[in-house]
Amino acid sequence: MKVFKFGGASVNSTTAVKNVKSILERYAEQQLVLVFSAIGKTTNALEKITTAAYGNHPDTGILLDDLKSYHLEIAGGLFPDPHHPVYGQIQEIFNRIQSLTKETNCPFDEFYDRIVPSGELLSTTIVSNYLRESGLDPWLVPACDIIVTDPRFRDAAINWSETEKRITEKVAAPILTGEKKIIITQGFIGATADGRMTTLGREGSDFTASILAFCLNAGEVIVWKDVDGLLNGDPAIFQNLVKIDHISYYDAIELAFFGAKILHPKTIKPLQNKSIPLRIKSFFHPESGGTLINNQSPGEMDVPFLIKKQNQVLISFVSKDFSFIAEDKLHLLFGIFNQLNIKVNLMQNSAISFSIIINHPGHKLEELLGILRNDFDIRYNEGLELLTIRNFNEPELNSLIAGKKVLLEQRSRRTIQLAYLS
Ligand code: ASP
Repeated sequence: MKVFKFGGASVNSTTAVKNVKSILERYAEQQLVLVFSAIGKTTNALEKITTAAYGNHPDTGILLDDLKSYHLEIAGGLFPDPHHPVYGQIQEIFNRIQSLTKETNCPFDEFYDRIVPSGELLSTTIVSNYLRESGLDPWLVPACDIIVTDPRFRDAAINWSETEKRITEKVAAPILTGEKKIIITQGFIGATADGRMTTLGREGSDFTASILAFCLNAGEVIVWKDVDGLLNGDPAIFQNLVKIDHISYYDAIELAFFGAKILHPKTIKPLQNKSIPLRIKSFFHPESGGTLINNQSPGEMDVPFLIKKQNQVLISFVSKDFSFIAEDKLHLLFGIFNQLNIKVNLMQNSAISFSIIINHPGHKLEELLGILRNDFDIRYNEGLELLTIRNFNEPELNSLIAGKKVLLEQRSRRTIQLAYLS
């Protein structure tokens, strides 16, 4: 059994959805579990809609209409019959979004998790109808029936025992009894045991694929992308990149942690636990090998990996009473970071000062400063970039930071991280 994950770019047009079908035909003999993300940039659009609706902004309706037209255009190229049931199903999802946008009487993150997963509901509705029509007989299993989580909205943690039970019953059973050969579900989405929808964090569909593979003891996971495999940097930022044919779970997890946008950072661990190989392949060139990630080390890697995180904030805390920043103060600081769900990308301390680099947390920055100002003198800089180079060499490093004002630097044997004004 294989688990395939198709990201937003793999279904962002009529041609792209047709291409997914032709990829699946190459695996006609396999039992497949397919995980789909929302189409194209739908999740970004839904985030905008959610924010607008929560603030009661008059643009909400226009944004929603634009998103609906976008989906109807793609559906139009796949289902020429205007009476095809898919249109009623799409309409139903939009009706649901419409009524949810009015129910603002709950915390924002919960509101978000009721609406933003609609992107995946739309993509799987369109794709499953299309594959059925093409004779592939897929079975759609809603992710909120199988991925059980806690109620930490927008960053939910998996209830592994319950999730495994449900996947065994609702996904493994129909495949193993031969009743179904292709099962489709949504990435990114889960639900609490009492049925409230949750999400696993942005780009969480990779993680969904990994959860399914773990619970199904799958033979392989393939993540289909618009690139030929893993490159040693983001092509939108860096030039002269090379494709990596093979890396170990260990290196992949480190890269994902530092912010390489190859995979959701939680994806690797479940696969590594069961030694399930993961391949990143191009949906444009399905015949090529892509990048293999498994438990074998390809040997010493000397290719530098370049990872850049934008919109970073450097915050420095100095204890007001000039006492050392030791365990008690760190405990206080991390307790607050955890409470506000702020993830630290880099940290550094001296005797009485402690600095962190974080993704800009939006309105939570003021909240964080407000809580900690009693105990610390705080200075911060916004608008930074954090560059991480794994397997760095001095010439490469110097050329990348030439002319930049570096505010914080940290080196280990293989990795250097630098924060500078962008
Ligand atoms: N659609 C979600 C996102 O864009 C999840 C995913 O694509 O993995 O973040």
